[in-house]
Amino acid sequence: MNNLTHPTFELDALVDDGRFGDFGGAFVPPPLVQPLQELAEAFSVAARNGELAQELTELFRNYAGRPTPLTEVPRYAAELGQCRIFLKREDLLHTGAHKLNNALGQALLAKKMGKGHVVAETGAGQHGVATATAAARLGLRCTIFMGAVDAARQQLNVVRMKMLGAEVIEVQSGNRTLKDAVDEALGYYVEHADHTFYLLGSAVGPHPYPSIVREFQKVISLESRAQILEQTGSLPDAVLACVGGGSNAIGAFHAYLPNEEVRLIGIEAGGRSLDPGEHAARFATGRPGIIHGMATVVLLDGNDQIQPTHSISAGLDYPGVGPQHAYLKASGRAEYGFATDGEALREFHRLARLEGIIPALESSHALAGAAQLAQELGPDATILVNLSGRGDKDVAQVADMQGVTTQATTGMFC
Ligand SMILES: *Cc1c(COP(=O)(O)O)cnc(C)c1O
Repeated sequence: MNNLTHPTFELDALVDDGRFGDFGGAFVPPPLVQPLQELAEAFSVAARNGELAQELTELFRNYAGRPTPLTEVPRYAAELGQCRIFLKREDLLHTGAHKLNNALGQALLAKKMGKGHVVAETGAGQHGVATATAAARLGLRCTIFMGAVDAARQQLNVVRMKMLGAEVIEVQSGNRTLKDAVDEALGYYVEHADHTFYLLGSAVGPHPYPSIVREFQKVISLESRAQILEQTGSLPDAVLACVGGGSNAIGAFHAYLPNEEVRLIGIEAGGRSLDPGEHAARFATGRPGIIHGMATVVLLDGNDQIQPTHSISAGLDYPGVGPQHAYLKASGRAEYGFATDGEALREFHRLARLEGIIPALESSHALAGAAQLAQELGPDATILVNLSGRGDKDVAQVADMQGVTTQATTGMFC
């Protein structure tokens, strides 16, 4: 493998208190203060001595399948307007999405900290599966908290996590969805912090999680930057990524931050409309607030209560956003737009039909952003889209929406 497409992977120690301008920080109850400080300290020590990066690089290459390819999609681009479009293929990573980069990184860190047990919450089950996978590989006990309603909706992922050796706790409190799973998981962690590790799934939450998750996901742009230079001789005009909590996007942007000429564009879930409760476009209608331990941009109602959200894609369906994105938006370095459910669905089908790649519905939002940008920039542009995951998980849902029965494939788990 040559060094261009296999850049040396280094982790930067945490340099600050986790503030990104007015955003970030750690707004947590007293019992979490010390565990978070220990986590920050352990990460910085591991980053400085280089061992964590070395072991993670080995796992990335020989277990997870890194580097992922950078694929030009000429038939797709021709339909959008003749520009060049390249996809960073996180869909080809083991387990089918970028989430494994972070799960492996944090599981390794847990081991370094002498913690034999990882706990995590999961909504649709994607982060739970990535965590269970990393825990199995590294020989860690794994407990996943999942709302009982979500578990019923995502039976297949529950089965998958159990096959991977994880214990799945179906949470019966509250609405029995993600928020309740977070509460239960955090409660469990506070009580067992001496030997458990909380494995957080996106670039969100209190310091140091947003920075740690970025450090584990930045491998995406370290690779893509070298690959696009090799394939085209220059940097792209724009890099696009979908933004749920913001981990694939911050990973896709990181290496381009110093290159001001490269536009960085995050695409949020525009859902059915921008009416309250119908979308998760935080930058379109949100305002500064605090959620899950961080200061960021949040969808709030008139009484400062967190608004319900909707997206066709579970991974983008979250009322807050990673604090570094709030900062990149405020500073003007990155731009954020949104794509509706319908626009994402259109690009889901277009990429499948023209290139033989079925994208995750989340990633289809980034493609919809690229479709719009292609019109704007014209034929000379080069656009790089981070394809955060594959769409196999979404095939049944998309088929259902078209009235196609998928009972034969899902019936086994009913
Ligand atoms: C979870 C997920 C996302 C959203 O999470 P981020 O932290 O914003 O990256 C996007 N795409 C896929 C495929 C996912 O599984």
